[in-house]
Amino acid sequence: MNFKIFAMIFALYYLNTTIAQVDSLSPKISNSQLVDFEISKNSDLKEGILNLHSFISKQDTSLTICKDGIEYRDFILSEFFPEYYPLYYLEYHLLNILQINDTKFEVEILNKLDYEKLGNDYCFQFEANFIYNAILSKVNNKWVVDLSLRHANYQKQKTSFGNIYHLNNLNKGFYKDYKMFLKKTSKQFHLSKPNEKLNYIIGNFEIFGFPYSMSATNRYFKKFHLIVSKHNISIDKHEFSHYFFQDYSFGLFLNEGLAVYNGGSMGMTFTNFLKFVKETYIATFSDEEQKVLIEKLLMNQIEGGSFLPIYYACSGLILQEYFKKNGTEHFIELPENDWKIKPADFLSKYLEVPADKQVSYLIELLK
Ligand SMILES: [Zn+2]
Repeated sequence: MNFKIFAMIFALYYLNTTIAQVDSLSPKISNSQLVDFEISKNSDLKEGILNLHSFISKQDTSLTICKDGIEYRDFILSEFFPEYYPLYYLEYHLLNILQINDTKFEVEILNKLDYEKLGNDYCFQFEANFIYNAILSKVNNKWVVDLSLRHANYQKQKTSFGNIYHLNNLNKGFYKDYKMFLKKTSKQFHLSKPNEKLNYIIGNFEIFGFPYSMSATNRYFKKFHLIVSKHNISIDKHEFSHYFFQDYSFGLFLNEGLAVYNGGSMGMTFTNFLKFVKETYIATFSDEEQKVLIEKLLMNQIEGGSFLPIYYACSGLILQEYFKKNGTEHFIELPENDWKIKPADFLSKYLEVPADKQVSYLIELLK
């Protein structure tokens, strides 16, 4: 992970904590001069673009089609209207229109945060959240936004192997690794096998129409029982861990802590990921400014959490301490009231670390 990505995630964290209370108002939508020029020549297209504006401002799904099914449509919508930010802070800028045929146009849409409204020093790193290519299509005399998967390769019939629906031809080695990992996890945590079939897609977000996406890493989407994996053949143990534990509605801390402990992160094993976090954060600890920043970060994070690697590492480390003490086999019997427990409460309740010692406890664990 380079500094730019770190800074972006860092900014995300601050955005998360600073704008959460603001109401969702309509996002700002604008056209480029090029788009305005094109629609000035074509009144029919003008109507189409107005429908696209309406779709963006009202999130009007009656104006959409998706031949790949409702779960993919909902998945794309969740990316198009990111939950992280109230809509008020988002800008959608229609950059370009490409005519495909008489009733089909491709519209390039840039999504970014409104810096002025945010007035937040931390968002200087953001250029854009994503660029999305939407197909505007005229169906039965009505303009709709086509949210289907983008590439023909991925539009073929889904096939099923065991518990996995996939759009790619997964090889035998993949299933063997998957089954072994499932067996190991089930045994270790006394976990029953997942009931829900998994939707699995290998590829990046471009297949959904996002040529550029800030969040184009491997991800598990619980709502859609979907893993989107950038890797081609090997299983991503972190994302598969999320899938195995999906019946438990753990909050961010336990959810990511478990996935990191059981499956590592960013393509690394838990051990290597910890090494990476230590080298990235702790190695610079002598610098006073960095020390203060880390302490502040850890203080914020024991209260809530974010998607920073250091937080993932801490969550995994806290659970590792818990497992050393209690073993893994009874973890899923944790009272449901505690599924969304904050790290601070978990530390005091299960590891007897008092509030005033928690930050230094985490620093010790990270060393
Ligand atoms: Zn995760």
